[in-house]
Amino acid sequence: MTDLAAHQAKLATHLARFRDGGILNLIDGQDQGGADWFETRSPVDESLIARVALGTAETVDDAARAAKAAFPAWAAMPGEERRALLHRIADLIEERAEEIALCECWDTGQAWRFMSKAALRGAENFRFFADRAPGARDGQSLHAPGQLNITSRHPIGPVGVITPWNTPFMLSTWKIAPALAAGCTVVHKPAEFSPLTARLLAEIGRQAGLPPGVLNLVNGMGEGAGKALTEHPDIRAIAFVGESRTGSLIMKQGADTLKRVHFELGGKNPVVVFADADLDRALDAVIFMIYSLNGERCTSSSRLLVEEGIAPEFHARLVERVNRIRVGHPLDPATEIGPLIHETHFRKVTGFFDIGKAEGACLAAGGERVGNTGWFVKPTLFTGATPQMRIAQEEVFGPMLTSITFKTEAEALRIANDVAYGLTGYVWTNDLTRALRFSDALEAGMIWVNSENVRHLPTPFGGVKASGIGRDGGDWSFDFYMETKNRAFALGNHRIQRLGA
Ligand code: NAD
Repeated sequence: MTDLAAHQAKLATHLARFRDGGILNLIDGQDQGGADWFETRSPVDESLIARVALGTAETVDDAARAAKAAFPAWAAMPGEERRALLHRIADLIEERAEEIALCECWDTGQAWRFMSKAALRGAENFRFFADRAPGARDGQSLHAPGQLNITSRHPIGPVGVITPWNTPFMLSTWKIAPALAAGCTVVHKPAEFSPLTARLLAEIGRQAGLPPGVLNLVNGMGEGAGKALTEHPDIRAIAFVGESRTGSLIMKQGADTLKRVHFELGGKNPVVVFADADLDRALDAVIFMIYSLNGERCTSSSRLLVEEGIAPEFHARLVERVNRIRVGHPLDPATEIGPLIHETHFRKVTGFFDIGKAEGACLAAGGERVGNTGWFVKPTLFTGATPQMRIAQEEVFGPMLTSITFKTEAEALRIANDVAYGLTGYVWTNDLTRALRFSDALEAGMIWVNSENVRHLPTPFGGVKASGIGRDGGDWSFDFYMETKNRAFALGNHRIQRLGA
């Protein structure tokens, strides 16, 4: 049996129970079907994976009430007990990592080689935040004249977590783990296109022994369950990962209930390659950062800015490598790019192939569909683009790189910053002073110098401009999920102003 066939056989076993029973919501520890259902289909061949319980505003209300009821006990649980439960979740993720990765590949089209690691990163997220969580009442004391202040941190309450379809398991754990570790309870609304692993995560939480109501799952549409969650008065905050324009909608929807929001949004991230860089390493990183994960990655380096003198040779090497990237079945360990998530997204990405050609950029590689079944496209490269072209300004979110050449550092900086987004930036140079100067002026929340995106969990993660609000990672996550309270104790010797005396 080939590796692909072995993966397919295992996947069939894991999916069997969903074929009959569907993918259910999980509220207050109980499985719940829906009055209505929707379908999730594989991007590989459009085959039905399972029907999914459609959450409505009423379902969200049930889940929010459960989260509210569970909150006091969860928040008051001794830190060591909570920590042990979260580590148990991590253990179970590791035990079921193969199942999670297989389901993720089939539901989203992401390649096995990346998803097998992403599943384990989910476990790491739980361990990291479990160990880092502040103690229940950690704070500091501040002396003032006549006063002793005691500050303490408290979980904010029940929170809504709304996640997208790209690497959904890893991203969900990235939000849910710190929320639970902080002492918040959660209602999770995953993307309607990738419900499988969200269900596995909710089951794992229950299996690990989370009390009912601590982690609730409501499947559904953005404009249905998602909107209801952002408007619910018992939900104190929304952690959202998705498109910038959805973030803007959520802000409006949450305005009446004054929601605290944390947004991880889109990007049009520059990778700037100066002539003095280590070009072999830069080439590897440029290719990895735009074509891995099907280019469906917020941090992808979708704009290449390359110094004019080295551009012809760099492009030639790029084309040669891009044409060798293996597009194929996501469960095949040899595959480097799988299909795009769904037809609408496929139309959007291939639409950008047409836009690039119409705008007069040079199609140097790819630019077309692969096969007639599923949503596969060739890894694509446009060279000779100019900064104001749509292919250089708009987020494509697929395996398509737009290359622009520059003459000077100042010009490179101007082009790099002249977009609506500001999530990541990548700078390749061996000139240390330039690296410092350039990265200082680059408008992005995260910048890597001479590297692809290598994440270290204690460091801050998030974007500026249209790419986000707030930071995750390290203690930054807890800043969002916790409130700081100050209590001032008078020492009994200050003068109180007297009125009517
Ligand atoms: P999306 O915004 O369409 O959907 C994300 C989630 O929001 C889904 O669960 C969806 O159902 C929900 N939603 C949609 N409308 C809603 C509404 N009105 N109210 C409440 N919820 C609503 O995004 P997507 O297409 O699933 O994901 C791709 C996008 O996510 C890209 O733009 C990508 O850059 C971004 N992203 C950003 C990061 C980051 O860290 N900055 C990470 C991953 C993905």
